[in-house]
Amino acid sequence: MIRRFFSYYKPHRRLFIIDFSSAVIVAILELAFPVAVQRFIDRLLPSGDWPMILTVSILLLGVYVLSTFLQYIVSFLGHKLGINIETDMRRELFYHVQKQSFRFFDNTKTGHIMSRITNDLFDIGELAHHGPEDFFIAIMTFFGAFGIMMTINVKLAIVSILVVPFLVWVITFCNIRMNQAWKRMYSKIADVNSRVEDSVSGVRVVQSFTNESFEKKRFDHDNGKFRKAKLTAYKVMAYTSSSIYMMTRFVTLVVLVFGAWLSFHGQLTNGELVSFILYVNVLMKPVDKISALMELYPKGMAGFKRFSDLVDQEPDVQDREDAIKVPLLKGDIQFDDVTFGYDSHQTVLQGIDLQVKAGETVAFVGPSGAGKTTICSLVPRFYDLDDGKITIDGIDISEMTKQSLRAQIGIVQQDVFLFTGTIHDNIAYGNLNATERDIQEAARRAHMESFIHSLPQGYETPVGERGLKLSGGQKQRIAIARMFLKNPPILILDEATSALDTETEKMIQHALSELAENRTTLIIAHRLATIRNADRIVIVTEDGIAEEGSYDELLNRGGIFAKLHCIQYERNVYTAT
Ligand code: ADP
Ligand code: MG
Repeated sequence: MIRRFFSYYKPHRRLFIIDFSSAVIVAILELAFPVAVQRFIDRLLPSGDWPMILTVSILLLGVYVLSTFLQYIVSFLGHKLGINIETDMRRELFYHVQKQSFRFFDNTKTGHIMSRITNDLFDIGELAHHGPEDFFIAIMTFFGAFGIMMTINVKLAIVSILVVPFLVWVITFCNIRMNQAWKRMYSKIADVNSRVEDSVSGVRVVQSFTNESFEKKRFDHDNGKFRKAKLTAYKVMAYTSSSIYMMTRFVTLVVLVFGAWLSFHGQLTNGELVSFILYVNVLMKPVDKISALMELYPKGMAGFKRFSDLVDQEPDVQDREDAIKVPLLKGDIQFDDVTFGYDSHQTVLQGIDLQVKAGETVAFVGPSGAGKTTICSLVPRFYDLDDGKITIDGIDISEMTKQSLRAQIGIVQQDVFLFTGTIHDNIAYGNLNATERDIQEAARRAHMESFIHSLPQGYETPVGERGLKLSGGQKQRIAIARMFLKNPPILILDEATSALDTETEKMIQHALSELAENRTTLIIAHRLATIRNADRIVIVTEDGIAEEGSYDELLNRGGIFAKLHCIQYERNVYTAT
Protein backbone atom coordinates (compact mmCIF):
# COMPACT_ATOMS: atom_id res chain seq x y z
CA MET A 1 0.00 0.00 0.00
CA ILE A 2 2.75 2.44 0.97
CA ARG A 3 4.79 1.57 -2.09
CA ARG A 4 1.74 2.19 -4.25
CA PHE A 5 1.22 5.51 -2.49
CA PHE A 6 4.77 6.56 -3.25
CA SER A 7 4.37 5.65 -6.92
CA TYR A 8 2.25 8.79 -7.22
CA TYR A 9 5.32 10.90 -6.37
CA LYS A 10 7.14 9.67 -9.45
CA PRO A 11 5.91 12.27 -11.96
CA HIS A 12 6.74 15.01 -9.45
CA ARG A 13 10.16 13.73 -8.43
CA ARG A 14 11.91 17.05 -9.07
CA LEU A 15 9.41 19.01 -7.01
CA PHE A 16 9.78 16.56 -4.18
CA ILE A 17 13.57 16.76 -4.19
CA ILE A 18 13.59 20.59 -4.19
CA ASP A 19 10.98 20.72 -1.45
CA PHE A 20 12.61 18.07 0.66
CA SER A 21 16.14 19.44 0.45
CA SER A 22 14.90 22.96 1.25
CA ALA A 23 13.18 21.57 4.33
CA VAL A 24 16.38 19.81 5.39
CA ILE A 25 18.42 23.03 5.02
CA VAL A 26 15.83 24.98 7.03
CA ALA A 27 16.05 22.37 9.78
CA ILE A 28 19.86 22.52 9.83
CA LEU A 29 19.78 26.32 10.06
CA GLU A 30 17.32 26.09 12.89
CA LEU A 31 19.58 23.65 14.70
CA ALA A 32 22.64 25.83 14.17
CA PHE A 33 21.05 29.09 15.33
CA PRO A 34 21.28 28.57 19.11
CA VAL A 35 24.95 27.56 18.74
CA ALA A 36 25.59 30.86 16.94
CA VAL A 37 23.85 32.74 19.72
CA GLN A 38 25.94 30.96 22.33
CA ARG A 39 29.21 31.85 20.57
CA PHE A 40 27.95 35.37 20.18
CA ILE A 41 27.31 35.81 23.90
CA ASP A 42 30.28 33.86 25.22
CA ARG A 43 33.05 34.96 22.84
CA LEU A 44 32.06 37.98 20.85
CA LEU A 45 30.41 40.08 23.55
CA PRO A 46 33.27 39.98 26.09
CA SER A 47 35.80 40.83 23.35
CA GLY A 48 34.03 44.12 22.58
CA ASP A 49 35.12 43.84 18.96
CA TRP A 50 32.31 45.94 17.46
CA PRO A 51 33.27 45.68 13.77
CA MET A 52 33.29 41.90 14.20
CA ILE A 53 29.94 41.97 16.03
CA LEU A 54 28.47 43.99 13.20
CA THR A 55 29.85 41.60 10.56
CA VAL A 56 28.47 38.59 12.37
CA SER A 57 25.08 40.31 12.74
CA ILE A 58 24.94 40.99 9.02
CA LEU A 59 25.90 37.37 8.39
CA LEU A 60 23.07 36.25 10.66
CA LEU A 61 20.70 38.51 8.75
CA GLY A 62 21.81 36.79 5.55
CA VAL A 63 21.09 33.41 7.11
CA TYR A 64 17.64 34.62 8.18
CA VAL A 65 16.81 35.81 4.68
CA LEU A 66 17.94 32.49 3.22
CA SER A 67 15.92 30.57 5.78
CA THR A 68 12.81 32.68 5.10
CA PHE A 69 13.14 32.10 1.38
CA LEU A 70 13.57 28.37 1.87
CA GLN A 71 10.56 28.24 4.17
CA TYR A 72 8.52 29.94 1.50
CA ILE A 73 9.67 27.28 -0.96
CA VAL A 74 8.82 24.49 1.44
CA SER A 75 5.41 25.89 2.15
CA PHE A 76 4.51 26.66 -1.46
CA LEU A 77 6.21 23.84 -3.35
CA GLY A 78 5.23 21.37 -0.69
CA HIS A 79 1.60 22.20 -1.12
CA LYS A 80 2.04 22.26 -4.88
CA LEU A 81 3.35 18.71 -4.65
CA GLY A 82 0.34 17.68 -2.57
CA ILE A 83 -2.09 19.36 -4.94
CA ASN A 84 -0.42 17.82 -7.99
CA ILE A 85 -0.69 14.35 -6.54
CA GLU A 86 -4.28 14.98 -5.49
CA THR A 87 -5.14 16.23 -8.99
CA ASP A 88 -3.57 13.18 -10.61
CA MET A 89 -5.55 10.88 -8.37
CA ARG A 90 -8.77 12.77 -8.95
CA ARG A 91 -8.28 12.54 -12.69
CA GLU A 92 -7.56 8.83 -12.45
CA LEU A 93 -10.69 8.32 -10.36
CA PHE A 94 -12.93 10.30 -12.71
CA TYR A 95 -11.64 8.51 -15.80
CA HIS A 96 -12.08 5.24 -14.03
CA VAL A 97 -15.66 5.96 -12.99
CA GLN A 98 -16.47 7.00 -16.57
CA LYS A 99 -15.28 3.61 -17.77
CA GLN A 100 -17.54 1.71 -15.39
CA SER A 101 -20.54 -0.18 -16.69
CA PHE A 102 -24.14 0.10 -15.54
CA ARG A 103 -23.87 -2.56 -12.89
CA PHE A 104 -21.33 -0.44 -11.03
CA PHE A 105 -23.72 2.51 -10.92
CA ASP A 106 -26.58 0.24 -9.90
CA ASN A 107 -24.55 -0.67 -6.84
CA THR A 108 -22.68 2.54 -6.02
CA LYS A 109 -24.23 5.63 -4.54
CA THR A 110 -23.36 8.94 -6.15
CA GLY A 111 -22.59 10.42 -2.72
CA HIS A 112 -20.07 7.64 -2.20
CA ILE A 113 -18.18 8.55 -5.36
CA MET A 114 -18.44 12.24 -4.51
CA SER A 115 -16.87 11.81 -1.11
CA ARG A 116 -14.03 9.81 -2.65
CA ILE A 117 -13.43 12.57 -5.17
CA THR A 118 -13.48 15.36 -2.59
CA ASN A 119 -12.95 14.46 1.10
CA ASP A 120 -10.71 11.44 0.70
CA LEU A 121 -8.51 13.14 -1.83
CA PHE A 122 -8.08 16.19 0.41
CA ASP A 123 -6.79 13.96 3.17
CA ILE A 124 -4.55 12.08 0.77
CA GLY A 125 -3.17 15.32 -0.65
CA GLU A 126 -2.34 16.60 2.82
CA LEU A 127 -0.62 13.36 3.71
CA ALA A 128 1.29 13.35 0.42
CA HIS A 129 2.63 16.79 1.20
CA HIS A 130 3.29 16.54 4.93
CA GLY A 131 3.85 12.82 5.39
CA PRO A 132 7.40 11.95 4.39
CA GLU A 133 8.78 15.47 4.76
CA ASP A 134 7.51 16.23 8.23
CA PHE A 135 8.38 12.81 9.50
CA PHE A 136 11.97 13.02 8.40
CA ILE A 137 12.44 16.63 9.52
CA ALA A 138 10.87 15.98 12.90
CA ILE A 139 13.13 13.04 13.61
CA MET A 140 16.14 14.97 12.41
CA THR A 141 15.48 18.10 14.49
CA PHE A 142 14.57 16.16 17.59
CA PHE A 143 17.67 14.01 17.68
CA GLY A 144 19.83 16.83 16.32
CA ALA A 145 18.74 19.21 19.07
CA PHE A 146 19.08 16.58 21.76
CA GLY A 147 22.53 15.60 20.49
CA ILE A 148 23.77 19.17 20.58
CA MET A 149 22.26 19.70 24.03
CA MET A 150 24.11 16.62 25.27
CA THR A 151 27.42 18.02 24.04
CA ILE A 152 26.77 21.30 25.86
CA ASN A 153 25.65 19.90 29.19
CA VAL A 154 24.57 16.35 29.85
CA LYS A 155 22.69 17.00 33.08
CA LEU A 156 20.63 19.84 31.73
CA ALA A 157 19.91 17.89 28.52
CA ILE A 158 18.55 14.97 30.49
CA VAL A 159 16.40 17.23 32.63
CA SER A 160 14.86 18.79 29.52
CA ILE A 161 14.18 15.48 27.83
CA LEU A 162 12.43 14.09 30.88
CA VAL A 163 9.36 16.08 30.10
CA VAL A 164 9.04 14.74 26.55
CA PRO A 165 7.22 11.49 27.35
CA PHE A 166 4.77 13.50 29.35
CA LEU A 167 4.25 15.86 26.44
CA VAL A 168 3.75 12.95 24.05
CA TRP A 169 1.14 11.52 26.36
CA VAL A 170 -0.79 14.79 26.60
CA ILE A 171 -0.65 15.41 22.87
CA THR A 172 -1.71 11.88 21.99
CA PHE A 173 -4.57 12.07 24.42
CA CYS A 174 -5.68 15.40 22.98
CA ASN A 175 -5.34 14.07 19.45
CA ILE A 176 -7.60 11.15 20.14
CA ARG A 177 -10.24 13.46 21.53
CA MET A 178 -9.71 15.85 18.66
CA ASN A 179 -10.17 13.05 16.13
CA GLN A 180 -13.44 12.05 17.72
CA ALA A 181 -14.58 15.65 17.75
CA TRP A 182 -13.75 16.17 14.06
CA LYS A 183 -15.36 12.93 13.06
CA ARG A 184 -18.50 13.93 14.86
CA MET A 185 -18.41 17.33 13.26
CA TYR A 186 -18.04 15.84 9.79
CA SER A 187 -20.97 13.53 10.30
CA LYS A 188 -23.09 16.42 11.56
CA ILE A 189 -22.24 18.65 8.63
CA ALA A 190 -23.11 15.75 6.32
CA ASP A 191 -26.52 15.67 7.99
CA VAL A 192 -26.97 19.38 7.45
CA ASN A 193 -25.94 19.01 3.82
CA SER A 194 -28.33 16.24 3.06
CA ARG A 195 -31.09 18.16 4.82
CA VAL A 196 -30.42 21.16 2.58
CA GLU A 197 -30.17 19.00 -0.50
CA ASP A 198 -33.43 17.26 0.33
CA SER A 199 -35.47 20.36 0.92
CA VAL A 200 -33.99 22.22 -2.04
CA SER A 201 -34.61 19.46 -4.56
CA GLY A 202 -37.87 18.59 -2.87
CA VAL A 203 -38.99 22.20 -2.54
CA ARG A 204 -42.01 21.59 -4.72
CA VAL A 205 -43.24 18.85 -2.46
CA VAL A 206 -42.45 20.86 0.67
CA GLN A 207 -44.39 23.87 -0.51
CA SER A 208 -47.32 21.98 -1.89
CA PHE A 209 -47.80 20.33 1.50
CA THR A 210 -46.96 23.69 3.17
CA ASN A 211 -44.55 21.85 5.42
CA GLU A 212 -42.06 24.71 5.60
CA SER A 213 -42.15 25.04 9.37
CA PHE A 214 -41.63 21.29 9.75
CA GLU A 215 -38.60 21.55 7.47
CA LYS A 216 -37.35 24.55 9.46
CA LYS A 217 -37.61 22.61 12.68
CA ARG A 218 -35.74 19.66 11.26
CA PHE A 219 -33.09 21.94 9.89
CA ASP A 220 -32.66 23.83 13.16
CA HIS A 221 -32.25 20.54 14.95
CA ASP A 222 -29.45 19.38 12.63
CA ASN A 223 -27.87 22.78 12.44
CA GLY A 224 -27.79 23.02 16.23
CA LYS A 225 -26.16 19.62 16.50
CA PHE A 226 -23.51 20.67 14.04
CA ARG A 227 -22.88 23.86 16.04
CA LYS A 228 -22.40 21.85 19.17
CA ALA A 229 -20.05 19.38 17.50
CA LYS A 230 -17.96 22.14 15.99
CA LEU A 231 -17.79 23.97 19.28
CA THR A 232 -16.55 20.84 20.99
CA ALA A 233 -13.90 20.41 18.33
CA TYR A 234 -12.65 23.92 18.89
CA LYS A 235 -12.72 23.48 22.62
CA VAL A 236 -10.49 20.41 22.34
CA MET A 237 -8.25 22.29 19.97
CA ALA A 238 -7.86 25.22 22.37
CA TYR A 239 -7.25 22.81 25.20
CA THR A 240 -4.53 21.04 23.20
CA SER A 241 -2.65 24.13 22.18
CA SER A 242 -2.76 25.65 25.65
CA SER A 243 -1.51 22.41 27.18
CA ILE A 244 1.40 22.34 24.78
CA TYR A 245 2.12 25.99 25.51
CA MET A 246 2.06 25.43 29.21
CA MET A 247 4.40 22.46 29.07
CA THR A 248 6.89 24.24 26.88
CA ARG A 249 6.93 27.16 29.32
CA PHE A 250 7.29 24.77 32.18
CA VAL A 251 10.38 23.10 30.69
CA THR A 252 11.81 26.51 29.90
CA LEU A 253 11.39 27.52 33.48
CA VAL A 254 12.98 24.35 34.79
CA VAL A 255 15.90 24.77 32.43
CA LEU A 256 16.23 28.39 33.51
CA VAL A 257 16.31 27.61 37.21
CA PHE A 258 18.49 24.51 37.00
CA GLY A 259 20.70 26.22 34.40
CA ALA A 260 21.11 29.25 36.64
CA TRP A 261 22.22 26.98 39.45
CA LEU A 262 24.73 25.24 37.15
CA SER A 263 25.92 28.58 35.87
CA PHE A 264 26.35 29.89 39.37
CA HIS A 265 28.53 26.90 40.13
CA GLY A 266 30.57 27.50 37.03
CA GLN A 267 29.36 24.48 35.12
CA LEU A 268 27.59 26.44 32.39
CA THR A 269 28.32 29.70 30.59
CA ASN A 270 25.66 32.35 30.10
CA GLY A 271 25.67 31.77 26.36
CA GLU A 272 25.12 28.06 26.88
CA LEU A 273 22.18 28.78 29.14
CA VAL A 274 20.54 31.01 26.54
CA SER A 275 21.15 28.50 23.76
CA PHE A 276 19.67 25.77 25.94
CA ILE A 277 16.48 27.70 26.39
CA LEU A 278 16.31 28.15 22.64
CA TYR A 279 16.87 24.42 22.13
CA VAL A 280 13.99 23.56 24.39
CA ASN A 281 11.73 25.16 21.78
CA VAL A 282 13.46 23.35 18.94
CA LEU A 283 13.01 20.10 20.83
CA MET A 284 9.29 20.55 21.47
CA LYS A 285 8.29 21.40 17.92
CA PRO A 286 8.89 17.96 16.35
CA VAL A 287 6.93 16.29 19.13
CA ASP A 288 3.94 18.33 18.10
CA LYS A 289 4.54 17.56 14.44
CA ILE A 290 4.86 13.84 14.93
CA SER A 291 1.61 13.69 16.81
CA ALA A 292 -0.11 15.70 14.05
CA LEU A 293 1.27 13.11 11.64
CA MET A 294 -0.09 10.34 13.75
CA GLU A 295 -3.48 11.78 13.04
CA LEU A 296 -2.87 12.59 9.38
CA TYR A 297 -1.39 9.23 8.50
CA PRO A 298 -4.31 6.92 9.34
CA LYS A 299 -6.78 9.39 7.85
CA GLY A 300 -4.84 9.76 4.59
CA MET A 301 -4.09 6.06 4.33
CA ALA A 302 -7.69 5.08 4.97
CA GLY A 303 -8.69 7.50 2.21
CA PHE A 304 -6.03 6.05 -0.04
CA LYS A 305 -7.26 2.53 0.63
CA ARG A 306 -10.81 3.52 -0.35
CA PHE A 307 -9.44 5.29 -3.40
CA SER A 308 -7.43 2.23 -4.44
CA ASP A 309 -10.38 -0.09 -3.90
CA LEU A 310 -12.49 2.00 -6.22
CA VAL A 311 -9.77 2.34 -8.84
CA ASP A 312 -9.13 -1.40 -8.73
CA GLN A 313 -12.70 -2.29 -9.65
CA GLU A 314 -12.60 -3.44 -13.23
CA PRO A 315 -15.67 -2.60 -15.32
CA ASP A 316 -17.63 -5.81 -15.84
CA VAL A 317 -18.47 -5.06 -19.46
CA GLN A 318 -15.21 -4.83 -21.34
CA ASP A 319 -13.95 -4.91 -24.89
CA ARG A 320 -12.38 -8.18 -25.81
CA GLU A 321 -8.77 -8.01 -26.83
CA ASP A 322 -9.63 -8.89 -30.42
CA ALA A 323 -12.82 -6.77 -30.48
CA ILE A 324 -13.86 -5.58 -33.92
CA LYS A 325 -14.61 -1.99 -34.76
CA VAL A 326 -17.71 -2.45 -36.88
CA PRO A 327 -18.75 0.03 -39.56
CA LEU A 328 -22.30 1.37 -39.62
CA LEU A 329 -24.58 -1.69 -39.76
CA LYS A 330 -28.00 -2.28 -41.28
CA GLY A 331 -29.61 -3.18 -37.99
CA ASP A 332 -30.71 -6.85 -38.13
CA ILE A 333 -31.03 -7.77 -34.48
CA GLN A 334 -31.24 -11.34 -33.26
CA PHE A 335 -31.66 -12.61 -29.69
CA ASP A 336 -30.58 -16.20 -29.46
CA ASP A 337 -31.67 -18.04 -26.31
CA VAL A 338 -30.77 -15.05 -24.14
CA THR A 339 -30.72 -15.49 -20.37
CA PHE A 340 -29.96 -12.61 -18.06
CA GLY A 341 -30.32 -11.47 -14.44
CA TYR A 342 -29.05 -8.38 -12.66
CA ASP A 343 -27.71 -10.52 -9.90
CA SER A 344 -26.98 -14.20 -9.63
CA HIS A 345 -30.01 -15.16 -7.56
CA GLN A 346 -32.69 -13.70 -9.81
CA THR A 347 -33.16 -14.31 -13.51
CA VAL A 348 -35.07 -11.58 -15.30
CA LEU A 349 -34.95 -13.01 -18.82
CA GLN A 350 -34.88 -16.71 -19.60
CA GLY A 351 -34.22 -18.20 -23.03
CA ILE A 352 -35.43 -15.24 -25.05
CA ASP A 353 -35.46 -15.72 -28.83
CA LEU A 354 -36.30 -12.73 -30.91
CA GLN A 355 -35.59 -11.45 -34.35
CA VAL A 356 -35.94 -7.89 -35.55
CA LYS A 357 -35.27 -7.29 -39.22
CA ALA A 358 -33.45 -4.19 -40.42
CA GLY A 359 -35.82 -1.27 -40.74
CA GLU A 360 -38.59 -2.99 -38.82
CA THR A 361 -40.46 -1.35 -35.95
CA VAL A 362 -41.15 -3.75 -33.10
CA ALA A 363 -43.18 -2.72 -30.07
CA PHE A 364 -42.82 -4.27 -26.62
CA VAL A 365 -45.90 -4.31 -24.45
CA GLY A 366 -46.42 -5.86 -21.07
CA PRO A 367 -46.78 -5.28 -17.36
CA SER A 368 -44.33 -3.11 -15.50
CA GLY A 369 -41.32 -5.08 -14.30
CA ALA A 370 -41.68 -7.75 -16.99
CA GLY A 371 -38.27 -6.99 -18.48
CA LYS A 372 -38.92 -4.74 -21.47
CA THR A 373 -36.32 -2.17 -20.51
CA THR A 374 -33.94 -4.97 -19.68
CA ILE A 375 -34.29 -6.48 -23.16
CA CYS A 376 -33.51 -3.10 -24.69
CA SER A 377 -30.50 -2.38 -22.50
CA LEU A 378 -28.88 -5.64 -23.53
CA VAL A 379 -28.66 -4.54 -27.17
CA PRO A 380 -26.11 -1.75 -26.48
CA ARG A 381 -24.40 -4.21 -24.13
CA PHE A 382 -24.93 -2.17 -21.00
CA TYR A 383 -24.84 -5.54 -19.28
CA ASP A 384 -23.29 -8.84 -20.34
CA LEU A 385 -25.54 -11.84 -20.87
CA ASP A 386 -25.54 -14.85 -18.60
CA ASP A 387 -26.23 -17.12 -21.53
CA GLY A 388 -27.05 -17.05 -25.23
CA LYS A 389 -26.05 -14.31 -27.62
CA ILE A 390 -27.26 -11.21 -29.37
CA THR A 391 -26.13 -10.46 -32.88
CA ILE A 392 -26.48 -7.43 -35.09
CA ASP A 393 -26.16 -8.17 -38.82
CA GLY A 394 -24.92 -11.59 -37.79
CA ILE A 395 -22.05 -10.29 -35.65
CA ASP A 396 -22.07 -11.14 -31.96
CA ILE A 397 -22.23 -7.86 -30.03
CA SER A 398 -19.71 -9.12 -27.50
CA GLU A 399 -17.19 -9.27 -30.34
CA MET A 400 -17.62 -5.61 -31.24
CA THR A 401 -15.91 -2.73 -29.49
CA LYS A 402 -18.34 -1.02 -27.13
CA GLN A 403 -17.78 2.25 -28.90
CA SER A 404 -18.57 0.99 -32.40
CA LEU A 405 -21.56 -0.99 -31.08
CA ARG A 406 -23.07 1.94 -29.22
CA ALA A 407 -22.57 4.20 -32.23
CA GLN A 408 -25.25 2.04 -33.94
CA ILE A 409 -27.87 2.62 -31.29
CA GLY A 410 -29.84 5.64 -30.12
CA ILE A 411 -31.96 5.56 -26.99
CA VAL A 412 -34.76 7.91 -26.05
CA GLN A 413 -36.14 7.37 -22.58
CA GLN A 414 -38.97 8.72 -20.50
CA ASP A 415 -36.61 10.86 -18.44
CA VAL A 416 -34.49 13.00 -20.69
CA PHE A 417 -31.26 13.91 -19.03
CA LEU A 418 -30.28 17.47 -19.84
CA PHE A 419 -26.85 18.77 -18.92
CA THR A 420 -26.36 22.17 -17.38
CA GLY A 421 -25.94 24.49 -20.37
CA THR A 422 -27.91 25.83 -23.28
CA ILE A 423 -30.45 24.22 -25.59
CA HIS A 424 -27.80 24.33 -28.28
CA ASP A 425 -25.26 22.46 -26.15
CA ASN A 426 -27.80 19.86 -25.21
CA ILE A 427 -28.73 19.11 -28.80
CA ALA A 428 -25.08 19.13 -29.84
CA TYR A 429 -24.43 16.39 -27.28
CA GLY A 430 -25.84 13.96 -29.83
CA ASN A 431 -22.82 14.44 -32.04
CA LEU A 432 -19.94 16.53 -30.82
CA ASN A 433 -18.61 16.93 -34.38
CA ALA A 434 -21.84 18.39 -35.75
CA THR A 435 -21.80 21.75 -37.47
CA GLU A 436 -24.18 24.61 -36.63
CA ARG A 437 -26.20 23.73 -39.71
CA ASP A 438 -26.52 20.12 -38.63
CA ILE A 439 -27.76 21.26 -35.25
CA GLN A 440 -30.37 23.57 -36.72
CA GLU A 441 -31.45 20.89 -39.14
CA ALA A 442 -31.85 18.44 -36.26
CA ALA A 443 -33.93 20.97 -34.32
CA ARG A 444 -36.10 21.51 -37.38
CA ARG A 445 -36.65 17.80 -37.84
CA ALA A 446 -37.55 17.48 -34.15
CA HIS A 447 -40.18 20.18 -34.78
CA MET A 448 -38.75 22.47 -32.17
CA GLU A 449 -37.59 25.33 -34.36
CA SER A 450 -40.56 27.58 -33.76
CA PHE A 451 -40.30 26.98 -30.04
CA ILE A 452 -36.61 27.90 -30.02
CA HIS A 453 -37.27 31.00 -32.09
CA SER A 454 -39.96 32.09 -29.66
CA LEU A 455 -37.34 32.24 -26.88
CA PRO A 456 -35.58 35.60 -26.50
CA GLN A 457 -32.20 33.91 -26.33
CA GLY A 458 -33.04 31.26 -28.91
CA TYR A 459 -30.55 28.40 -29.04
CA GLU A 460 -28.50 30.01 -26.30
CA THR A 461 -31.30 29.71 -23.73
CA PRO A 462 -30.01 27.95 -20.62
CA VAL A 463 -32.06 24.85 -19.82
CA GLY A 464 -31.80 25.31 -16.04
CA GLU A 465 -30.75 22.69 -13.60
CA ARG A 466 -31.58 19.35 -15.17
CA GLY A 467 -33.88 21.08 -17.63
CA LEU A 468 -36.26 22.27 -14.97
CA LYS A 469 -37.34 25.20 -17.09
CA LEU A 470 -38.56 23.05 -19.98
CA SER A 471 -41.77 21.09 -20.27
CA GLY A 472 -41.73 17.33 -20.72
CA GLY A 473 -42.57 17.68 -24.40
CA GLN A 474 -39.82 20.20 -24.97
CA LYS A 475 -37.27 18.00 -23.27
CA GLN A 476 -38.41 15.07 -25.36
CA ARG A 477 -37.89 17.13 -28.51
CA ILE A 478 -34.34 17.90 -27.46
CA ALA A 479 -33.79 14.16 -27.06
CA ILE A 480 -35.22 13.58 -30.53
CA ALA A 481 -33.03 16.31 -32.03
CA ARG A 482 -30.03 14.62 -30.41
CA MET A 483 -30.99 11.39 -32.15
CA PHE A 484 -31.28 13.07 -35.54
CA LEU A 485 -27.75 14.32 -35.01
CA LYS A 486 -26.45 10.95 -33.94
CA ASN A 487 -28.31 9.25 -36.77
CA PRO A 488 -27.95 5.62 -35.66
CA PRO A 489 -29.36 2.66 -37.63
CA ILE A 490 -31.04 1.28 -34.50
CA LEU A 491 -33.41 3.26 -32.33
CA ILE A 492 -34.79 2.38 -28.91
CA LEU A 493 -37.75 4.33 -27.57
CA ASP A 494 -38.30 3.32 -23.97
CA GLU A 495 -41.61 4.83 -22.90
CA ALA A 496 -40.40 8.00 -24.54
CA THR A 497 -43.84 9.55 -24.55
CA SER A 498 -45.40 7.78 -21.56
CA ALA A 499 -45.06 10.75 -19.24
CA LEU A 500 -46.68 13.15 -21.69
CA ASP A 501 -50.34 13.95 -22.02
CA THR A 502 -52.09 12.51 -25.05
CA GLU A 503 -52.17 15.85 -26.82
CA THR A 504 -48.44 16.45 -26.49
CA GLU A 505 -47.76 12.84 -27.33
CA LYS A 506 -49.58 13.20 -30.61
CA MET A 507 -47.43 16.17 -31.52
CA ILE A 508 -44.20 14.42 -30.54
CA GLN A 509 -45.34 11.28 -32.32
CA HIS A 510 -44.92 13.02 -35.62
CA ALA A 511 -41.26 13.81 -34.99
CA LEU A 512 -40.74 10.33 -33.60
CA SER A 513 -42.10 8.55 -36.65
CA GLU A 514 -39.87 10.65 -38.85
CA LEU A 515 -36.98 9.68 -36.60
CA ALA A 516 -37.91 5.99 -36.83
CA GLU A 517 -37.97 6.05 -40.62
CA ASN A 518 -35.38 3.75 -42.19
CA ARG A 519 -34.17 2.61 -38.79
CA THR A 520 -34.65 -0.59 -36.87
CA THR A 521 -36.85 0.59 -34.02
CA LEU A 522 -37.60 -1.05 -30.69
CA ILE A 523 -40.39 0.78 -28.98
CA ILE A 524 -41.75 0.28 -25.48
CA ALA A 525 -45.07 1.90 -24.72
CA HIS A 526 -48.00 1.72 -22.37
CA ARG A 527 -50.57 3.38 -24.54
CA LEU A 528 -51.53 1.09 -27.34
CA ALA A 529 -52.33 4.08 -29.54
CA THR A 530 -48.61 4.88 -29.50
CA ILE A 531 -47.76 1.63 -31.22
CA ARG A 532 -50.66 1.44 -33.63
CA ASN A 533 -48.28 1.58 -36.58
CA ALA A 534 -45.66 -0.86 -35.36
CA ASP A 535 -44.85 -3.68 -37.77
CA ARG A 536 -44.95 -6.19 -34.99
CA ILE A 537 -45.93 -6.30 -31.34
CA VAL A 538 -44.23 -8.49 -28.75
CA ILE A 539 -46.00 -9.13 -25.47
CA VAL A 540 -43.50 -9.51 -22.65
CA THR A 541 -44.59 -10.96 -19.33
CA GLU A 542 -42.61 -12.20 -16.34
CA ASP A 543 -42.51 -15.63 -18.02
CA GLY A 544 -40.92 -14.28 -21.18
CA ILE A 545 -42.39 -13.55 -24.57
CA ALA A 546 -46.05 -14.50 -24.48
CA GLU A 547 -47.43 -13.32 -27.81
CA GLU A 548 -46.06 -11.93 -31.00
CA GLY A 549 -47.77 -10.58 -34.11
CA SER A 550 -49.26 -7.53 -35.81
CA TYR A 551 -51.76 -5.32 -34.05
CA ASP A 552 -54.75 -6.82 -35.80
CA GLU A 553 -53.50 -10.39 -35.55
CA LEU A 554 -53.07 -10.10 -31.80
CA LEU A 555 -56.42 -8.43 -31.42
CA ASN A 556 -58.12 -11.26 -33.23
CA ARG A 557 -56.25 -13.87 -31.24
CA GLY A 558 -58.10 -12.80 -28.09
CA GLY A 559 -55.09 -13.25 -25.76
CA ILE A 560 -53.31 -10.91 -23.38
CA PHE A 561 -53.06 -8.15 -25.93
CA ALA A 562 -56.75 -8.27 -26.70
CA LYS A 563 -57.47 -8.04 -22.98
CA LEU A 564 -55.14 -5.05 -22.58
CA HIS A 565 -56.76 -3.44 -25.56
CA CYS A 566 -60.16 -3.96 -24.09
CA ILE A 567 -59.17 -2.31 -20.80
CA GLN A 568 -57.58 0.69 -22.44
CA TYR A 569 -60.32 1.10 -24.96
CA GLU A 570 -62.97 1.10 -22.28
CA ARG A 571 -61.04 3.59 -20.23
CA ASN A 572 -60.70 5.83 -23.25
CA VAL A 573 -64.41 5.72 -23.82
CA TYR A 574 -64.96 6.45 -20.18
CA THR A 575 -62.60 9.44 -20.06
CA ALA A 576 -63.99 10.81 -23.29
CA THR A 577 -67.49 11.15 -21.89
P1 ADP B 1 -40.02 -3.15 -17.49
O1 ADP B 1 -39.19 -2.21 -18.32
O2 ADP B 1 -40.71 -4.19 -18.29
O3 ADP B 1 -40.96 -2.41 -16.60
P2 ADP B 1 -37.51 -3.81 -16.30
O4 ADP B 1 -36.75 -4.37 -17.41
O5 ADP B 1 -37.18 -2.42 -15.92
O6 ADP B 1 -39.05 -3.96 -16.53
O7 ADP B 1 -37.28 -4.70 -15.01
C1 ADP B 1 -37.34 -6.11 -15.02
C2 ADP B 1 -36.95 -6.66 -13.66
O8 ADP B 1 -35.60 -6.39 -13.39
C3 ADP B 1 -37.74 -6.05 -12.53
O9 ADP B 1 -38.03 -7.07 -11.62
C4 ADP B 1 -36.80 -5.06 -11.91
O10 ADP B 1 -37.01 -4.95 -10.54
C5 ADP B 1 -35.45 -5.66 -12.22
N1 ADP B 1 -34.45 -4.60 -12.46
C6 ADP B 1 -34.53 -3.62 -13.38
N2 ADP B 1 -33.42 -2.85 -13.39
C7 ADP B 1 -32.62 -3.36 -12.44
C8 ADP B 1 -31.31 -3.02 -11.94
N3 ADP B 1 -30.62 -2.00 -12.44
N4 ADP B 1 -30.80 -3.77 -10.96
C9 ADP B 1 -31.48 -4.81 -10.45
N5 ADP B 1 -32.69 -5.19 -10.85
C10 ADP B 1 -33.27 -4.49 -11.85
MG1 MG C 1 -39.22 -0.15 -18.31
